[in-house]
Amino acid sequence: MRALPFAQPGRFYRGNLHTHSTRSDGTLEPEAVVGLYRDAGYDFLSLTDHFLPGERFGKDGVAFIDVTDTTAFDSDGFVTIPGAEIHGPALRNGEPWHFVVVGLPLDFPRPNDAETGPEVARRAHEAGAFVSVAHPAWYALTLEDVRPVLPVCHAIETYNHACLGVDRADGWYFLDELLGEGARLTAVAADDAHFKHPLGLTRDALGGWVHVRSESLAPDALLAALKAGAFYSSTGPELRDVRFEGDELVVTSSPVETSRVSRPHASRSPSGGNSASSASPSATTGVAGPGPTRSGSRGSDRSRRPDPVGEISSSVDIWSSGCC
Ligand SMILES: [Zn+2]
Ligand SMILES: [Zn+2]
Repeated sequence: MRALPFAQPGRFYRGNLHTHSTRSDGTLEPEAVVGLYRDAGYDFLSLTDHFLPGERFGKDGVAFIDVTDTTAFDSDGFVTIPGAEIHGPALRNGEPWHFVVVGLPLDFPRPNDAETGPEVARRAHEAGAFVSVAHPAWYALTLEDVRPVLPVCHAIETYNHACLGVDRADGWYFLDELLGEGARLTAVAADDAHFKHPLGLTRDALGGWVHVRSESLAPDALLAALKAGAFYSSTGPELRDVRFEGDELVVTSSPVETSRVSRPHASRSPSGGNSASSASPSATTGVAGPGPTRSGSRGSDRSRRPDPVGEISSSVDIWSSGCC
């Protein structure tokens, strides 16, 4: 569990793994969505339009029956990874499943009416995709729903920026429970942008992302790193180094006011050794001086820096289950 991505070769690349376009229920054309993220300084994007049976999102009488090919919009220093949000029956509450799958082959067959959500997720996993469970709080996903599907899932979406508008953005409680049971999953922060928020076109965009450690910006390399857990998630701060020095966890980040290292209250992992390679910064802007924050790894700890008068506060949460 101490193979943190910061010590691995390469550098971090910033990307968004969950976004929609006019290929489903978003308002911007795919090229415009790609351009928005490229211009915002991201390194990569996966356009994950809803991929459904039938012709629900057909436009001008033309049904979208294929995974959206965005690779024509790649440019120097910016790549796209084909993906989709897939659905199918059904949660215990009757809602269809929502899985975000990144790294789909372009000929991945569209879900059919006979498939359940978990069956489509399994197909995506077998096709090589990085599979995350989308916005668990938004549609009241339960642990009973998800446990049987975990073998084909890599991550839980612990922050969904679009769901912030309905107070259902946070999925950490859900991941904590699963990790406490011994599951091995990582944490994804993503936008789920549709670009139709009444208060502004990009109000649901550019709010949650991943930093993926890779030796190159090649989509295959990014995908392999995601599946290996070589990434962290953020809604603002940049983590520059996270490493263990004996029993201490040393964190170096962009300017923040506070750093907080936490783990679930009731870790029940029989091995006591879950991955700690994901982090979830919880605020977007910080101004206190950068530098290492040290926390003993034996239990929760909170390290607080001086609060600069009149400056904006932020914090970083780092989850470290089973570190001791
Ligand atoms: Zn969804
Ligand atoms: Zn979505």
